[in-house]
Amino acid sequence: MLLTASHAADVARYSPRHLAFVVPLVALHLSCLFVFVVGASPLAVSVFVGTTVVQVFGITAGFHRLLAHHSYRTSRFFQCVMALLGVLAGQNGPLWWVAHHRHHHAHADREGDTHSPRAGFFWSHMGWLFSERSIPLRDDLVRDLARLPEMLLLERYYYVVTLGYAGLLYVIGGWQLVVWGSVLSTVFTYHAIWSANSVCHRFGTRRFPTNDDSRNNFLVALVTLGDGWHHNHHFSPYSARHGFRWWEIDINYAVLRCLAAIGVVWDLRLPPERVTRAAAAS
Ligand SMILES: [Zn+2]
Ligand SMILES: [Zn+2]
Repeated sequence: MLLTASHAADVARYSPRHLAFVVPLVALHLSCLFVFVVGASPLAVSVFVGTTVVQVFGITAGFHRLLAHHSYRTSRFFQCVMALLGVLAGQNGPLWWVAHHRHHHAHADREGDTHSPRAGFFWSHMGWLFSERSIPLRDDLVRDLARLPEMLLLERYYYVVTLGYAGLLYVIGGWQLVVWGSVLSTVFTYHAIWSANSVCHRFGTRRFPTNDDSRNNFLVALVTLGDGWHHNHHFSPYSARHGFRWWEIDINYAVLRCLAAIGVVWDLRLPPERVTRAAAAS
């Protein structure tokens, strides 16, 4: 892989000034070890699975397909609900997330891409978060969201949602539920979502002549509810459907179709038929 000058410069930007970001992230990972102290129970495992699914759905169907790409439409109320579910995953506020993601699509694996694996696998997975590249919020990339007061509120106080949820779990089931339903689920969701930036730009299959290194990856698709069909997505970013073949499991799209059937969402955008036909032939 060619490491461009800007990618090399990115890696050189690991900075102690970002300890405020590094310390909580490392502490959260180490906190996973508390699972050996609190033990397991059917309730704790159920809360882990349920919370993880909601967090991943909030990021991939909410932050990603709805807020970043407008791949379907919904009411302002339900848009706020989806943003709230995304915020629960503890990946900063919706404006930060969407701005970085739109920037990625505009520069994928080329000069300026914030998290290309061309600068190293660890860099693309999570290293960039410890650098100056994670800090700037490109206001010009999220003007559509910045005019909505509810999005600004979630942007500013996103951590209240994650900490509030952890507090609720503590009241219901003590530290065991906090560890399973807040710590473990959030760390799992982090790595699932980050894998789209790292694994899906390095390992998997391609079928379209996209100007990037994006890949379709079955395993990442499973843990991200469909966003692992990342190569399809880079080719057709506005599509609400990421899995183009019947076996390309895309749970998000299935859920969105159910929500469309009951009128909660509508105008699911799809790629032209020639695109899905080309995918079917590949
Ligand atoms: Zn990508
Ligand atoms: Zn995208």
